[in-house]
Amino acid sequence: MTGIPLGRRASTVTIKRPEEIALMRRAGGILASILEVLEAELRPGVRTGDLDQIAERMIRDAGATPSFKGYGSNPPFPGSICASINDEVVHGIPSSRRVVADGDIVSIDIGCIVDGWHADCARTFPVGTVADELQQLIDATRRGMEAGIAAAMPGNRLGDIGHAIETVAHRYGYGVVRPFVGHGIGTSMHEEPQVPNYGRPGTGLRIEPGMCFAIEPMFNLGGDEVGVLDDGWTVVTQDGSPSAHFENTIAIGAAGPELLTDR
Ligand code: MG
Repeated sequence: MTGIPLGRRASTVTIKRPEEIALMRRAGGILASILEVLEAELRPGVRTGDLDQIAERMIRDAGATPSFKGYGSNPPFPGSICASINDEVVHGIPSSRRVVADGDIVSIDIGCIVDGWHADCARTFPVGTVADELQQLIDATRRGMEAGIAAAMPGNRLGDIGHAIETVAHRYGYGVVRPFVGHGIGTSMHEEPQVPNYGRPGTGLRIEPGMCFAIEPMFNLGGDEVGVLDDGWTVVTQDGSPSAHFENTIAIGAAGPELLTDR
């Protein structure tokens, strides 16, 4: 789930201990396993509410707690996953009335807590046969995430991450969603700092070992602009163009970033 920029706030970026990162790694492994199952279930005719039920059961069976369910107050998010279809960017509410169709792209975002420590993870999947331009959007958004993670080296700065991500989007002429951002993560899903998907190289917070971030670009086939639907959650592109979203939780090690949302 993305963070929402709230302007300037007191910056308290925490450094995690190895045993704390180990709990986040366990949470991340659970999420990666569940996403593999959801990908296999994601066929034309499936309902996003069914995927949510599978995800919640798997999180609880693993001894973890869903972090999205009940999150926020606009109103509290009702699902354990976000399921965002086509022009929905992020924070789509899973529903038994929402049926996935051949040719759709579906972004699944999922988070859980193990012994008080969070992980947060998202992938965009094609359903059945999708248009080439949609597959290219998915692949580029994944590469944008990978470029952002590669830039998360100790001694680099947050602006290096954002710059690496938006450079990939600009190569394809894609819109980059700016009002929603990546974030620090630990004992809360959303911690300082905000990690925008744009930035100037060499600017912003210096990255240090023990910091943990959720890196999560959202690229649009059309323009940058987005809005929020009346349900208070679902973010959609203003021009109706499709959007993709990838997210991994990482821990900064002395030698570079470690993927925590991995099996
Ligand atoms: Mg997130």
